[in-house]
Amino acid sequence: MFSGISVSPGVALAQAVVLSSEQVSFDRSPVASEFIEREIDKFKNAVAESVKQLTLIETHVREKMGDDKAAIFEGHLMLVEDEELSETVIEVIRGQRFPAPAAVEAVINEHASAMEEMEDEYLKARAVDMRDLGHRLVLNCLGIAPQSLETFEFEVIIVAEDLTPSQAAVLDTSKVKGIITERGSRTSHTAIMAASMEIPAIVAVEGVSTAIQNGDMVALDAEHNQIIVNPTPSQLDQVEYRREQFILERKLLEELRDLPARTSDGVRIKLAANIGSPADSAPALLKGAEGVGLYRVEFLFMETSEAPDEEMQYQAFKSVVDDMKGMPVVIRTLDVGGDKDLPYLALPKEENPFLGCRGIRLCFERPSLLLRQLRALLRAGVHGDIRILVPMISSVDEVRRFKEFLAEAQSSLEHEGIAYAKDLPVGVMIETPAAVFLAPHLIRETDFFSIGTNDLTQYTLAVDRQNERIAELFEQLSPAVLLGIKHTVDAAREEGKPVCVCGQMAGDVLSALLLVGLGVEELSMSPVHIPRVKNAIRKHSCARLRDIARDALGLATAAEVKAKLEKYLG
Ligand code: PEP
Ligand code: MG
Repeated sequence: MFSGISVSPGVALAQAVVLSSEQVSFDRSPVASEFIEREIDKFKNAVAESVKQLTLIETHVREKMGDDKAAIFEGHLMLVEDEELSETVIEVIRGQRFPAPAAVEAVINEHASAMEEMEDEYLKARAVDMRDLGHRLVLNCLGIAPQSLETFEFEVIIVAEDLTPSQAAVLDTSKVKGIITERGSRTSHTAIMAASMEIPAIVAVEGVSTAIQNGDMVALDAEHNQIIVNPTPSQLDQVEYRREQFILERKLLEELRDLPARTSDGVRIKLAANIGSPADSAPALLKGAEGVGLYRVEFLFMETSEAPDEEMQYQAFKSVVDDMKGMPVVIRTLDVGGDKDLPYLALPKEENPFLGCRGIRLCFERPSLLLRQLRALLRAGVHGDIRILVPMISSVDEVRRFKEFLAEAQSSLEHEGIAYAKDLPVGVMIETPAAVFLAPHLIRETDFFSIGTNDLTQYTLAVDRQNERIAELFEQLSPAVLLGIKHTVDAAREEGKPVCVCGQMAGDVLSALLLVGLGVEELSMSPVHIPRVKNAIRKHSCARLRDIARDALGLATAAEVKAKLEKYLG
C-alpha cells in the first residue's frame, strides 16, 4: 500500500502504464561494411514505423482534442517525411559506418542544435519537435515501441516519476483513469491539470515508479490517499464500494448546481472556476461555476509548438467569454518560468527559477509577447466581461509599467481601427510577501486582487512548492500565510474593491470555510471542487466562520489551525 498527496478526487481501478524516464542505451561503435545495408534498412523501417505511429496519434488527437493539439504531431510527420533528412542519415550510415540509431542521433542533434541557435522563434520551436522525433526514430530503430500518452487501447492508470504539464496536456482523458507520480506536490501544475481534467491523482508517492510494473492492477483511492497494487478480492470489493460512494456523492452534489453558495446567515460567496483551456468552460458550468476566476493562459501556450499568435489567443479568449454568457472571466497574462517551461521561448536555465524571470517579469523581458496578448485580451473584451490579472507582482512599479504596455496595446488597436474594450478592469495576483505588504498601495492602482495561495505559501514560508523533500513544510494553513491573506483582504475592503482566492486552498473544503471567515467573498478553484465547497458553505453561518477565523489568526502553528478547523468544521 502506498500513499502520497491526493491532489484530484476520485477512485479508479485500472492497469498501470509505467512511464520510464530512462534514456535508452545502445552500441554506437562503427559496423562492419557488410552490415551497412542492414542498418539502412533498419532506419527505413524505423521511418515507416514512425509515420504509422504519428498518423495514428495525429488522427486520434484531432478527434479527441482538436486541431491545435493535433498540429504538434502534424509537424512531426512533416519532419519524418522530409527526404533530405533521411538522405543525410543514410549518408552518415554509409560514410561513417554508424549503426542506424547512432546515425539518427548524430544527424538530429546537429540539426536541432543549429535550430536552437537561431533567432527565429518558429525555427527554435522546430528544434524541440526535431528532438522529440529523433527520440521516436531511435526507439524504432531499436525495435522499442515508444510510449504514447495520446493513445491507449484500454483504460490505464499512469505511473511516472514525474509528468510535465505539457505531457499532461495531451493525455487521452477517455482512457487515463488515474495519475500517480513520485514527484510533484499539491500545487504543482500537473496536479492542477489532473484536477481540471477530473482524473483522480496522487502525487509525491515515494518509490512508486519502480515498485509498480507495467500491467499491474492498481487501485487508486484519492479520497483516502491510498494506492493498492494488485488488490486482493476483498480489497477489490472495498475499492469498488468506495468508487460507488464517490459517484453517489457526486450525483447528490449535482443537485446543488443551481443553488447559490450562501452561508446559513445569508452571506453570498461567489464560486468561480480555474480553467486552463477554452474546453474547460462547459464542464465548469456543469459544476455550477459563476464565471472564470482564473484562466491560466500558459496551458494554451503549452499545447502548441510555437507561441500562439494574436488571432489564436483572441479566439480562445472569445470562446471562453461566449461560453460564460456575460459572467466575468478573469484572464491572467502569461505566467511561465518557475516550473512552467515553453521550449520555443528557449528560456535560459536559472539557478532559482521560482525566484527568477517568471510571470510578468518574463513578459516585460519579451515586450512583443506581452503586447500580442494584451491586444488579444482587449479585442476579446468587446464580447463580454473580461478582467485582466497580472501574476508575480512584487512592486507598484510593475503595475505602472504593465499599464503602460496596456495603453500601448490600446493605442495600436485604435490606430489600426480595430474594435477593443476601453476599460477592462486590471487586477493583480497577491502571491509574494511584497505584494501583501504593499496591498494598500497596490489596490489604489488596480481594480481587484486575486490571492494566489500556492505561491504566497511558497514565498512566505520559503518552501519550494515543487520540492517533495520539504512537502511537509508547505503549510497553506500556517498562521503566517493566514495573516498575509487577512492583511490583503482588509486592504481591498478599505478601498471597497473585490478580492478572490484562486490558489488550491480555495478548493479544499476546510480551508475554503476559513477563507470565508477571513472575509473572502469569492473563491476560484478547479471546477471539480465546486460542489463540495458549495455544500459546506451552505451548512455554516458566516458569523461563526468569522469567529473561528479570528481565533485561528491568533494560533501559533499550522497544526493548531488544522486541529481547530477539524474540531469545529470537520
Ligand atoms: C497561485 O500561485 O496560487 C496561483 C493560483 O497561481 P499558479 O498556481 O498558476 O502559480
Ligand atoms: Mg502563482
